[in-house]
Amino acid sequence: MAEKFYWADQIADQIIKRNPRKKQYVCASRITPSGTIHIGNFREVITSELVLRALKDKGKKANFIFSWDDYDRFRKVPANVPKSYEKYLGMPISDIPSPFEKNKSYAEHFEQEFKKSLKKVGVNPKFVRYSIMTKKCKYAKLIKKIIEKRKEIMQILNKYRKEALKKDWMPLVIYCEKCKKDSTKILGIKGYIIEYKCDCGHKEKIDFRKKGINVPWRINWPMRWKYEGVDFEPGGIDHSVHGGSFTTAKEIAKQVFDYEPPIYVFYDWVRIKGGGEFSSSSGDVLTIDAVEEVYEPEILRYVFVGTKPKTGFQISFDNDVIKIYEDYDKLESKYYDKKANPKEKRIYELSQVGKVKKKRPEKTGFRHLITLVQTGKTQELNSESKKRAEKVKNWLEKYAEEDMRFEVQTKIHIKLTKKEKQILLALRDILKKKKYTEEKLFQEFYNLCKNKDASNTEFFNAAYRVIINKHRGPRLASLILLVGQDKIIKLLNQIK
Ligand SMILES: [Zn+2]
Repeated sequence: MAEKFYWADQIADQIIKRNPRKKQYVCASRITPSGTIHIGNFREVITSELVLRALKDKGKKANFIFSWDDYDRFRKVPANVPKSYEKYLGMPISDIPSPFEKNKSYAEHFEQEFKKSLKKVGVNPKFVRYSIMTKKCKYAKLIKKIIEKRKEIMQILNKYRKEALKKDWMPLVIYCEKCKKDSTKILGIKGYIIEYKCDCGHKEKIDFRKKGINVPWRINWPMRWKYEGVDFEPGGIDHSVHGGSFTTAKEIAKQVFDYEPPIYVFYDWVRIKGGGEFSSSSGDVLTIDAVEEVYEPEILRYVFVGTKPKTGFQISFDNDVIKIYEDYDKLESKYYDKKANPKEKRIYELSQVGKVKKKRPEKTGFRHLITLVQTGKTQELNSESKKRAEKVKNWLEKYAEEDMRFEVQTKIHIKLTKKEKQILLALRDILKKKKYTEEKLFQEFYNLCKNKDASNTEFFNAAYRVIINKHRGPRLASLILLVGQDKIIKLLNQIK
């Protein structure tokens, strides 16, 4: 049944409606692997993947083509790449060596890193490397058309430029055969034959049916829509402003290639909350893998799936992580209890890495795991909860705020007042009496306070300080039972 409640389903409907007889629809995304690919780029990918899933859920055939724009010039040395790489500026990133391993190109290094992480979150597009396609001269016919329609293209581009393009402007990018850089100038074109000269002194004639050449981004984009038959593609907000590359790509697609541009959505940026070390200036960008150290793949998807592309949002690493886990668990319960509304249902389904599981996954909540992990009580968890406990552990180590971290004490490090000693010894005696349930033990706390004429604050404060050396902590009864009554008795026995 058609779902009308979720944006990707609405787009899928639009795609089908405007081209009902197409045998196979194409969703596209593209990224330039000019450095480590960060979580913000994931939005480019998942936006297309969600529309792909929506098309398939409607019984349509569809393909997801993910293009590596790896024939772009190397523009800037990122902070995590050696400075010596300056010598490669102006060369295509597919043709310079990887700074991190042998036998790989610069582009391939970042491509493979990202590809691996995409798999973990259930995104498996068909990858196309533009550099290879270009070197195979796959676009030669379209490039010939671009050359023929150079004037129309200039007109379109000039409409949105402050300064008009120079009269001899050519919609081509040629990398020099000798020095591999793009510092070339075209001397003449005849059919498929181009003569160029380079700043390095090299000069030659090439046939672009035999040697691949490139075209600038604004022309490149619509050329590949045409070549791949793209029906849907998202784009970052930078491409989407009026007069931006999407505006001109649309016009070029229609006028030069006689192609109806794909349905398009722009997506806003993803920001990071907590985890302050990630910034582009340090080169230490936030990767999918880094997010996945804290978020389960389904919850990582959920964070994106639950937000419309045009809405910017934050990925949290601070204590909000707990709430996001709790929200997801709540949605999951609603889903399996058949209480989710159609939109919630769709968000849950699309958050899954594969198909929705028939049986409700049994997982311990994130908040409770915070206590279990820090009291070392994770042995009895089921395998799913153990995996989640790993995320909790990573989170506690790297991002959790101070109030979430604690360490169970084996010695008393603090000074206690006479009254506090009395209270805590009374607690010890209660614990000695018998084994408690959390509820029963909690009841005893109140009896204790009454008997010893102590306030709740006095009691809890003293207990937390002795047990975890903090003024506050997780639910006390639960904490004591998790640590073990015996261990707490041993600790309280040290009171003199
Ligand atoms: Zn050269």
